[in-house]
Amino acid sequence: MAMNAASNKAEQALGHGENTKIHDEISNPGKQESKYADPSGEKMKALAWMGKNHVELVETHKPRIVDDKDVIVKVTGTTICGSDRHLFHGAILQLQKGDILGHEYCGIIEKTGPAVKNFKVGDRVVASFQIACGDCEFCDQKLSSVCQHTNGSTVENTLYGNRTAGMLGYSHFTGGFSGGQSEYVRQPIADFNLLKIPDEVPDEKALYLSDVLCTSYHCVVDTGIKEGDVVAVWGLGAVGLLACQWAFLKGAGRVIGVDSGWRLDFAKEKVPKLELLDFKSIDMKEGVSGRLHKMTKNGYGVDVSLECASGEFAKGFIHKAMIATGLETDTSEILNEMILATKPFGRIGITGIYAGFTNNFNIGAIMETGIRFIGNGQAPVKMHWETIMNDYIIPGKLDPMMVMTHRIKLEDIAKLYPLFDQQAQIDGRGIEKPYIETRFSQPACKGSPALSVL
Ligand SMILES: [Zn+2]
Ligand SMILES: [Zn+2]
Repeated sequence: MAMNAASNKAEQALGHGENTKIHDEISNPGKQESKYADPSGEKMKALAWMGKNHVELVETHKPRIVDDKDVIVKVTGTTICGSDRHLFHGAILQLQKGDILGHEYCGIIEKTGPAVKNFKVGDRVVASFQIACGDCEFCDQKLSSVCQHTNGSTVENTLYGNRTAGMLGYSHFTGGFSGGQSEYVRQPIADFNLLKIPDEVPDEKALYLSDVLCTSYHCVVDTGIKEGDVVAVWGLGAVGLLACQWAFLKGAGRVIGVDSGWRLDFAKEKVPKLELLDFKSIDMKEGVSGRLHKMTKNGYGVDVSLECASGEFAKGFIHKAMIATGLETDTSEILNEMILATKPFGRIGITGIYAGFTNNFNIGAIMETGIRFIGNGQAPVKMHWETIMNDYIIPGKLDPMMVMTHRIKLEDIAKLYPLFDQQAQIDGRGIEKPYIETRFSQPACKGSPALSVL
């Protein structure tokens, strides 16, 4: 929290960027009611961050159209993401009390701004978690996650050299936009950042295009899988498990999932060809990398390693202490495991969230053995979502519902956060990815989990 408070001060001191083409810093329309709330005075329910490990379902104002390219969307489906855990913990910089969270949602357009061309009232849409301008150098290449015109955070620009795009519901570090864990969303630059959902595709199969489908797909194609490759995936949450499936679809010969507990059984049930490695069952001397060497031909390790966990969760005491005292923001433990587990001139892709700096990083092994160490970036949703919808979801080659374990009402979302964070079980099942319905949702589609009441 100290870092969070300091980062908010730093933003004030450095001055907010003037690079944005839209109004950012509207993280809850109720905060500046006269400018950003719907003039009718109508209220909505939304999930707000109130402090470290503290979120609440609040009643706040429904948003209004602020910029000409905005639309207002009535939310019919949202979810919680592994990356929301970092917000919950206050591990992401520039959070403020009352920020509405959630970067994944689908819904029905209720109002359109005067400059919206591609959508009309009543269209069913899914939103990209990033907000991109649609006409800059990066947007022209569909690299929507690094659009430089939708996020004014000077702190982020200072830390990364450039900015990421603005993101829905993900703190003022990514623009300060009100998120999708709510009944209504103000969606900026709708024409570029929304995708129409075809009539034959239910919300449950479209929602995860907001993030995890595109993030897992991007992780695999950006790192590069060749026919027959042996691939190891660290973390079998929704992104990791989908990455395993994409790796097979892209020609991997073997895929090995690294995790522990119920997720291993869940992953095996969903992707039967997957091989498993329980990191908790391995002694320190052998280590995950030692085991992966034993599991591969000639003992050289895997061709490709994919990081789908994140750097916030240190395993050993030393990194726990360094994170707690601010000597690093992220642990290098998994990264070093991956480096040792990968063949010379093999490839490593980093998709799990890393926020800043890490210590004890094995740069020598990367240089000496020619490993390609790739930051996959925040996934450019615009680059992949039509391909995933048209080539995989509609023909049934990949069912996004393979990661959906629960259906929960928005009214229960504040109770869901700590359960999801602690990887607890609900109704006897671990929570991989829930579908969160609102009062506007359609009845559950075929194959949806039954509603769980918390
Ligand atoms: Zn997400
Ligand atoms: Zn742009």
